[in-house]
Amino acid sequence: MKKIVILLLIVSAFSCKNTQSVIAKDNSDPTKYMNTITAAELKKHLYIVASDEMEGRETGSKGQKKAGIYLIDQYKKDKVPFPKAATEYYQHIPASYLNARRNQNLPDSENIWAYIEGSEKPDEVLVISAHYDHVGVKNGEVYNGADDDGSGTVALLEMAQAFAKAKKEGHGPKRSILFLHVTGEEHGLHGSRFYSENPLFPLANTIADINIDMIGRRDVEHAQSNNYVYVIGADRLSSDLHNIVVAQNEKYTKIDLDFKFNDPKDPNHFYERSDHYNFAKHGIPSVFFFNGVHEDYHQKGDEPEKIEYDALTKRTQLAFVIAWDLANRENRPVVDKK
Ligand SMILES: [Zn+2]
Repeated sequence: MKKIVILLLIVSAFSCKNTQSVIAKDNSDPTKYMNTITAAELKKHLYIVASDEMEGRETGSKGQKKAGIYLIDQYKKDKVPFPKAATEYYQHIPASYLNARRNQNLPDSENIWAYIEGSEKPDEVLVISAHYDHVGVKNGEVYNGADDDGSGTVALLEMAQAFAKAKKEGHGPKRSILFLHVTGEEHGLHGSRFYSENPLFPLANTIADINIDMIGRRDVEHAQSNNYVYVIGADRLSSDLHNIVVAQNEKYTKIDLDFKFNDPKDPNHFYERSDHYNFAKHGIPSVFFFNGVHEDYHQKGDEPEKIEYDALTKRTQLAFVIAWDLANRENRPVVDKK
């Protein structure tokens, strides 16, 4: 009897250990974590980030810094640290840099970053970006920028929280993820350009950028339904990235992907107009999610009450499942186009 018991113990101990390691590596299904991204939480964050208290988040302003502190507090709450290679949540950008191209008397400002280290390929990094600056106060009116880009800002918070929960439960991403809240976008994509010139991780190890700028509203082209998102740039450098976007959407979110603005001949040139471009121009596969412009674009009416939280949630979930695939797949997306 004794012998058999010992043998059983050994067998069960072995199989237990084995099962655990299998579970830790099986990141095939993000559904559980995708579903932690909720309209209620996005709304809660956005009513704060896009409140009058943040004074329209003009680059370098007191209001923007206040919004930044709110973001950092959320990361601390969710136990998402700043990157190991950094000493704080800020990447400082001097006024001289922000005013170098066109002097607009901008004060110093900051990018904000948070980080989840990969379990298997920590040196390969996925960047998820959104700008947290907006246009400030004009004629005594606060321009709250709930859609532009409060929506992308809070999407990053929710995505980071979901990845942090996954990691805690043994399903952390295999590659590292950098959540990058950039500043100075409205004045010429300054924050993302600064990052691309002063990257924390070598650009050669940066596998992709997912950029989110305005995903909480709809445009007139989609008056009948908010179940869509414009996808811009995914296939410009990498067929893999495009295929991942399409496949993950088909599998998990089933949003109408609108590629109209991805046409290089589109006169709006949105591909060059948000922060992903500062990654794309360095050869990093990049995709930009966008709902198009609407009557409140860069107007004082861009308020949190006008956000369609169901659409914001679905689009955030789409970005999340794409990030999940990029961070966990065997090979990084291949650059096969110029
Ligand atoms: Zn924007």
